[in-house]
Amino acid sequence: MAARILVVDDDSALLDALPETVRLRLEDVEVETCDSAPEALARIESNDYEVIVSDIKMPGMDGLALLAEIKQRRPSTPTLLITGHGERDLAVAALRGGAHDLIQKPIDRDYFVASLERAIQLRELDRRVSEQREALERHAQVLDHVGDGVFLVDDGGVVQLWNPAAAAITGLSQQAVVGRPAESAIPGWGAIVPVVHVAASPGDRDGAFEAFPVELEGRELWLSVSGVRFGDATVYAFRDLTAERAIDDLKREFLATASHELRTPLAAIYGAAMTLRRRDIEVNEEDRDRLLGVIAHESDRLARIVNEILVADYLDSGRLRIDPTGLDPVKTATEVVNAARVVAPESIAIELEAAADMPAVTADREHLRQVLVNLVDNAVKYSPDGGRVTVRIEDRGPSVRFSVSDEGIGIPPNQQTRVFDKFYRLDPDLTRGVGGTGLGLYICRELVRRMSGRISLVSSPGEGSTFVVDLPAAPRSDASSRPHEIRASAFPQPL
Ligand code: ADP
Repeated sequence: MAARILVVDDDSALLDALPETVRLRLEDVEVETCDSAPEALARIESNDYEVIVSDIKMPGMDGLALLAEIKQRRPSTPTLLITGHGERDLAVAALRGGAHDLIQKPIDRDYFVASLERAIQLRELDRRVSEQREALERHAQVLDHVGDGVFLVDDGGVVQLWNPAAAAITGLSQQAVVGRPAESAIPGWGAIVPVVHVAASPGDRDGAFEAFPVELEGRELWLSVSGVRFGDATVYAFRDLTAERAIDDLKREFLATASHELRTPLAAIYGAAMTLRRRDIEVNEEDRDRLLGVIAHESDRLARIVNEILVADYLDSGRLRIDPTGLDPVKTATEVVNAARVVAPESIAIELEAAADMPAVTADREHLRQVLVNLVDNAVKYSPDGGRVTVRIEDRGPSVRFSVSDEGIGIPPNQQTRVFDKFYRLDPDLTRGVGGTGLGLYICRELVRRMSGRISLVSSPGEGSTFVVDLPAAPRSDASSRPHEIRASAFPQPL
């Protein structure tokens, strides 16, 4: 594109001659002229000229005043001022005012053209510099907005850049890290740097992103780090994999627990079935009943485990249907208690306490049953020395409260919120010998939440636990009078 130049002069002879001189000696230049400073200003307003050439002495607004305006409106446009011979003071004022060069009259054409050429180059350079600055600022902003931690370590080992994500992930602020040796600023860096993969170029991903543990203020973070050489420095990118690793650990733990949990009842069922099949020994009526009882009981246990896994999966994937209706809370609890009594050890007494005229509760029948089954199951499971398990139902005005209390081992205060976490099982030493997937209370919490209720827990280690579930009472008119089937067993029903 041609460079546009504006020449401002009240001397019409010069105004005719200068453009011609420029056109003859410079290629790709377009010269526009005007004969007063106010007109020049009007043009500058709407045109971004490469260079402006102005006479210093003009009637009305002179070249110096025009220069001041140009500096305000187009600070990066170089301006050449034409001065008369011997106007030294004006020349000094022009340079002070930021003129790019002075052209003395009578004009030496070669000097004029050379000065103009320099000014055009300067403008071009200036433009490129600002484009690069803008690009750099954009890049810097991009780094500010990426989710991965990015930092630059120079060959002296000093951190030169630390983006906001790096600060957010590690908790180490920019001020605390930039300008300091990486080894002292980033805990664990000394151990990471010899093993982290540094590629020669960004495309080389061979063995990239290894995960390393980093201890930061008592927290252990798993960071996956990779590096790329960048001039005389290395740019590192990292990502926080702590949550993913925790999930992996959970999965591993779950698979170990679930397979153990599945194997135990399977072995019992297999053993009982094999004994029943043997022809070489006589199995009397009593043993037969006992072995069939084992098969029924252990199948029930197996089905519960599988059901828990299924329900947890349905909850996580949002596929679980909730169908709330007005239910008789006492009837539902009675079914659960009756079924639990059948399988509970003799040392445990399961009781139901409820006033006669309980309001209906708004809940999904199967899900409420599942919650109560899980809680009563746990109450029995975690009462190794026997005792009383009480299911209590209370009318709490807008809600119906179910509480399941036991006199078992209890739960230490610092574990009381965690027991509702998925796969969470208390210290295995405490629950040794008691099977479980760690899903029961998670399922209870999620089901109760989805039925617009809340679940809480009061417990003292060694004295027992009470799990409390509050669910909305049904509006009186909605109280369903649908008959409830009485189930003979707590065998889980399909969802
Ligand atoms: P699990 O399958 O292990 O029983 P849950 O999610 O039902 O899983 O319970 C999580 C943990 O909470 C259990 O491992 C147990 O340590 C503790 N817990 C649950 N209910 C009771 C209870 N009634 N008394 C004592 N501890 C309990």
